[in-house]
Order: sequence, then C-alpha cells, then structure tokens
Amino acid sequence: MYCKNCGKEISDYAYVCPNCGVKTDSSLSQGNAPAEKKTNTLAIVGFVLAFLVPIAGLICSIIGKKQCAERNEGGAGLALAGLIISIAEMAIVLLYVIIVVAFAGSLISSMALPVTLL
Ligand SMILES: [Zn+2]
Repeated sequence: MYCKNCGKEISDYAYVCPNCGVKTDSSLSQGNAPAEKKTNTLAIVGFVLAFLVPIAGLICSIIGKKQCAERNEGGAGLALAGLIISIAEMAIVLLYVIIVVAFAGSLISSMALPVTLL
C-alpha cells in the first residue's frame, strides 16, 4: 500500500509510515478491530443501587458479574465495585446498629442501676 500522507510505498502491515511517521490505514483498521464491548446493564444498575439500596445493589452486582462472564460483556469491574460497595455499606450500617444498640443498652442499664439501688 501507499502512505496516504506522503505517497511512499510501504508495507501493508506497517503501523506507521517509516518515511513520515503518520499512522497508516492498517493501523486505523486494527485500532477499530476490537469491537466495543457492551456494558452489562445489571452491572451498572448494581453499581448505582449499591449507594442507594445496598442489598438490591449486592444482588444486581452478583447477577451482573455472572452475566458479564457468560455473555462476554463489559462491566465486570463495575459489578465488582458495586459488590464491594454494597458489602461495605451493609457492614457500616450493621456496625452503626451495633453501636446504637450497645449505647442504648448501656444507657438503659445505667438508668436502671439507681432504680435497683433504691
Ligand atoms: Zn508517509
């Protein structure tokens, strides 16, 4: 083939023209070759839901991650992120509940203590 920039004859497999350094048509077609992967919908939904409804986000992320592998779709990383965020958020909520319960428990016992002393 010939360079589209300088017109010099170059190898059909040349990535750039050795004469002028401009990218060849073959490099352009190679660049477009890997078809853009469709991002799995559930992976996106799971990621968004992870922030809003952690349990729903977790479920969607698990299914989305499975679908990414099965259908060779993109978004596995997104699904994984949604999964981690969901678990982290549930852990934070659980920790918060434990702290509140423990605090309320100690508060009740400290209030009940003078009563039992009387
Ligand atoms: Zn050239």
